[in-house]
Amino acid sequence: MRPEKLLFPTPEGLYCPAGAFHVDPVRPVDRALITHGHSDHARSGHRAVLATRQTLDIMKLRYGEDFCESEQAVDLGSELDVGGVAVSFHPAGHVLGSAQIAIEKEGMRIVVSGDYKRSADPTCTPYEPVACDVFITEATFGLPVFHHPDPRAEIGKLITSLKQFPERSHLVGAYALGKAQRVIALLRQAGYGEPIYIHGALAKLCDYYRSQGIDLGELRPATVERGNQDEFRGAVIVGPPSAFADRWARRFSDPVASFASGWMMVRQRAKQRGVELPLVISDHCDWPELTQTIREIAPEQVWVTHGREEALVRWCELQGIAARPLHLVGYEDEGD
Ligand SMILES: [Zn+2]
Repeated sequence: MRPEKLLFPTPEGLYCPAGAFHVDPVRPVDRALITHGHSDHARSGHRAVLATRQTLDIMKLRYGEDFCESEQAVDLGSELDVGGVAVSFHPAGHVLGSAQIAIEKEGMRIVVSGDYKRSADPTCTPYEPVACDVFITEATFGLPVFHHPDPRAEIGKLITSLKQFPERSHLVGAYALGKAQRVIALLRQAGYGEPIYIHGALAKLCDYYRSQGIDLGELRPATVERGNQDEFRGAVIVGPPSAFADRWARRFSDPVASFASGWMMVRQRAKQRGVELPLVISDHCDWPELTQTIREIAPEQVWVTHGREEALVRWCELQGIAARPLHLVGYEDEGD
């Protein structure tokens, strides 16, 4: 079977006509297979949804019980038949519950990796390479200039700053799903034992991560009331990036503004956001991870999506691997 017959882009997202399903559709569809819970991949309003138990739980937390008509949980590594197409989910190492989806029919296997990364993350199952004929990869950081440092060294910078400025609260911007919990878990791994304060928008997801066995230590709500300003002196406060623009953030006196994102590599972005302490912590592959992964899998073809497609397509061609950009729209990388 030709791969373009098994899976192709439509305005709704990638579609598999043989199995009558879409992968991470951006519009409501009859049957959706979802790689992970970020809002650009996991939307509400589909009739039937197939995903890992954790991704389904996360969608429920974010959209409510009625986020779809019917749900089916699939275990990582087990294979199921969807309308005559063999489908299996494999760890992507991106956020809790994240999976790559392998789709196979008549000897043709395509792997949709969704978002993935290779660097260590204490909050989710590590990425596993899956042999395939066609590998669909993201290219969020698909340029040779993108090299992400060791996240433990980045967390070390935060710990150093806490020691340097014991009077100042440290406001760390981190996306609500995945990045926030990863920053907290990395702090705990580095031996930081103080209570960590979290913005209300993170509470449900942090509770869920803990229910799944992720150690986040003592968390307290970052609620500023008159007279409790002292509580936040020298403390770490984690909140979604959006909260840093509103009045909530201005209640902390003389805070150190920090932001955990792969984009913090780009000095201009840190400057624009007024970030004093940029932490380059990414939930996506950098250029060496992308190219290492493609070498390791050695697929016949690579299809490149959301991000800087051209450079990776060119790199594949130079390696003798056929490649093309997919030009999918609607993926705004919620959790970089
Ligand atoms: Zn994502």
